[in-house]
Amino acid sequence: MTGIVHGAAIGRIHSWDLSTGVDGPGTRFVLFVSGCPLRCLYCANPDTWHMRDGRAVTVDEVMGEIDKYRAFITTAGGGVTLTGGEPLLQSAFAGAVLRRCKEAGLHTALDTSGFLGLRATDELLADTDLVLLDIKSFDIPTYRKLTGGGLDPTLNFATRLDRLGKRMWIRYVLVPGWTDDPEAVDGLGGFLAGLGSAERIDVLPFHKLGAAKYDALDVPFPLRDTPTPDAALVDRVRGQFRAHGLVAH
Ligand code: SF4
Repeated sequence: MTGIVHGAAIGRIHSWDLSTGVDGPGTRFVLFVSGCPLRCLYCANPDTWHMRDGRAVTVDEVMGEIDKYRAFITTAGGGVTLTGGEPLLQSAFAGAVLRRCKEAGLHTALDTSGFLGLRATDELLADTDLVLLDIKSFDIPTYRKLTGGGLDPTLNFATRLDRLGKRMWIRYVLVPGWTDDPEAVDGLGGFLAGLGSAERIDVLPFHKLGAAKYDALDVPFPLRDTPTPDAALVDRVRGQFRAHGLVAH
């Protein structure tokens, strides 16, 4: 019994890597799935945007690679994280990998914007131990300008995950002039405080480490001149979330 969902045996991926401390608990095997429907102005991985640019791999090939690190990642209290790009763009493939990971006894995490939350079946979510949910802004016009998409699907997905009792870590990229508006931060804090499954919120300072990728792709990096947030701003925003009783890092 392989658990492979019909038609999901092949996916397109950008790469895989190991990481510690940023993609869920412990040391993790991180699978970067190709393709994303959003175009976040601060995206650090523009090289994952197009599914067509990804490498075709079978679920067996992915599992074979994971197996090489299995002892290491489980000893380190880690597991497997699917990120991208947007893993739910290839939801059948993502679901098949998550299923196989659970069959192998591995902890699983799904890093998603939630924009395609409707593509996540209850079965896929049952095979996901932790959702890393990126909420890019709580202000509807800002969300659209920042990502090219609408905010509602993400909030609906968060509410559904909460109903299912699914563990969530929220990720919030702090970009001066874009996501530092005190009212919007406060609004998000209030929304999250109503979700018992939101265990923590990670405030991630905007950085420009992806700038070279834009240059290589000959794509303009819209936030090239936007400053990174200083420590005082990061503290203020974390403090605003904590004021809602949330665990903020
Ligand atoms: S959702 Fe993620 S991968 Fe997609 S554009 Fe935004 S930051 Fe980039």
